[in-house]
Amino acid sequence: MKAKIQHAELSPKTKQFLDTPPRMLIGNEWVKSLSNKTFDTVNPADGKVILQIPLADKRDIDAAVVAARHAFKTTWKDGVSPTQRAELLWDLARLMERDLQVFMELETLDNGKPLSKSKYDVLGAINHLKYYAGWVTKINGSTVPVGSNKLVYTKKEALGVVGLIVPWNFPLMISMWKLAPALACGNCCILKPSELTPLSALYLGHLIIEAGFPAGVVNIVTGEGSPAGEAICHHMDVDMVSFTGSTVVGRKIMEAAAQSNLKKISLELGGKSPNVIFDDADLEKVFENLQWSSFYNTGQECTLGSRIYVQQSIFDKTVANLKEKAEKMTMGNGFDDHDLGPMISEKQLSNVMDYIDSGKKEGAVLVCGGKRIFANLRDGYFLEPTIFTSQSDGLRIVKEEIFGPVVVILPFNDFDDAILKANNSSYGLAAAVWTQDLSKAHNFANKVDAGTVWVNGYDLFDAAVPFGGFKQSGNGKEMGVNAIDQFTKEKAVWIVL
Ligand code: NAD
Repeated sequence: MKAKIQHAELSPKTKQFLDTPPRMLIGNEWVKSLSNKTFDTVNPADGKVILQIPLADKRDIDAAVVAARHAFKTTWKDGVSPTQRAELLWDLARLMERDLQVFMELETLDNGKPLSKSKYDVLGAINHLKYYAGWVTKINGSTVPVGSNKLVYTKKEALGVVGLIVPWNFPLMISMWKLAPALACGNCCILKPSELTPLSALYLGHLIIEAGFPAGVVNIVTGEGSPAGEAICHHMDVDMVSFTGSTVVGRKIMEAAAQSNLKKISLELGGKSPNVIFDDADLEKVFENLQWSSFYNTGQECTLGSRIYVQQSIFDKTVANLKEKAEKMTMGNGFDDHDLGPMISEKQLSNVMDYIDSGKKEGAVLVCGGKRIFANLRDGYFLEPTIFTSQSDGLRIVKEEIFGPVVVILPFNDFDDAILKANNSSYGLAAAVWTQDLSKAHNFANKVDAGTVWVNGYDLFDAAVPFGGFKQSGNGKEMGVNAIDQFTKEKAVWIVL
C-alpha cells in the first residue's frame, strides 16, 4: 500500500474563506453563536484543527426558526412566484459550478475523501439542484371525480419551516438531497450539517446570499446533535425534519416528533447491504466493481456492500481477487488523490477497530487488512481495507453496520439460500445481484427486502430515482417526485356546485 502526504495548495478563494472567522447564517446575517462558544473542525488526514466553528444551542435554533417562519410568511410563501423560485435554484447551481474547486477542496479538507471523489459529490449536488429547479413549476394538484354537483380538487402546499439534519459522509451532496426539493416546494429551511464536516454547508451559505434568496429562506446552523439537532427536532414551530444519519439517532428523532408537535419526519438511516454474486455472473465485471462497492469512501457509506454473498463454486476465486485488489488500493491524504482517504475521526476508527476485534473473537477469518496505518500517516485516521470470511451469519460483523472499510464474504448454495441470507438483516437500504440470467435477476429484485436493487452494478444514483430504505433503514424517500411529496402537504378542496 502506497502512503504519501503532501501539503495541499488551496485555491485563493478557499484560502480566503478559511481566513475569515466562520459564522452561522441566520436571516441572511452571519452570526456567532449566542453563547459565543465554538467547536473545532478537524482534518482527518492529519488530525489538525482547520477552524473553530460556532457552537449552536437551543437559543440559536430558536433564532433560526423565527427567521425562517418570518421569511415563510412575508416573502417566500406568496411573494415569490414559482418561476422566480426556479430561477433562484438555477442561479445557485451556476454559482456552485463557478466555485466547484472551492467545494471540492473544502470537502476533502473536512471529510478527508480524495479530491476526485469530492468532485463527484459536488457535481452530484449541483445536478440535484438543477433537477429540482425543473420541478418548481410543475408541482400540480389534481381534480377528483366525485359526482355531478361537486368539484373536488387537490393542491400541494409547502409545509412551512423544515429542519434538515445531515451526516458527515457526503456532507454537501446529502445537504442538497434535502435542500433542493425543500426549496423547490417553497419551504424555508434550517440546515444543520454534521459537527464533523460543517465547512461546505457554510460556504454554500455565501452563494445562497449571492444568488439572491430572501433573508431567512435558508438558515445554516452549526453544532452538535445535542443540543442543536435535538432543539430542531423538539421545536414546536418546525413542521418537518428530514434526517439522514444513524438508526440510533433516527429513533430519537421519532421520539422528539412524538413528544413535540407530531411534526412530519423523514428518516434515511443505516444499512448492511447484501452484494450477491452468482456463479453465472460476468466475473470480469464483478471483479472490476467489487473493490469499490466494498471500500468506496473508506467504507463510510450507508449503501456499502458490506455483506458479500458468493456462490460456493466461485467463493475462493472471489476472495482471492478482492484480497489482491484491496492490497493494491492506495490510501492517503485526499489532496494526493489516492483511492481512499482516512476515516472521519479517531472515534469512528476506534469503533471500527472494535468490530475487527469482535470478528476475530467470534471466529471469522481475517483475509487481509485489519490494522491502523501509521507509516507516514501517523496523525491521520487511516485503516487498511479489511476482508473477513465467515461461514456463519450470526456474527456482529455480519449483522451490525460497521461504517468503515470492513467487509465479510460468506458462501451460499442456491437462489433460495441467497435470498434467505440477503434478507436476514434488520436493515433494508440497498442490495445488488450479479448474474447473466435475466429471470434470476428479476426474481431476486422481487424477493429482496431493500429500497434499492442494483443488477450487475453498484451504487448507481440519479436525482430522478427514488432512494430510501426499508425496515430499520428508514421510512422516507428522497429524490425523484417522492421528495416533492415529502416536502409538501396535500389539501383537498370541495366545491358544491
Ligand atoms: P449520526 O446519526 O451520528 O448524526 C447525523 C446527524 O444527526 C448529525 O448532524 C448529528 O449532529 C445529528 N444528531 C445527532 N444526535 C442528534 C439528536 N439527538 N437529535 C437530532 N440530531 C442529532 O450519524 P453520522 O455518524 O453523522 O452518519 C453515519 C450514519 O448515517 C450511518 O449510520 C449511515 O448509514 C447513515 N447514513 C444514511 C444514509 C441514507 O441515505 N440512508 C446516507 C448517509 C449516511
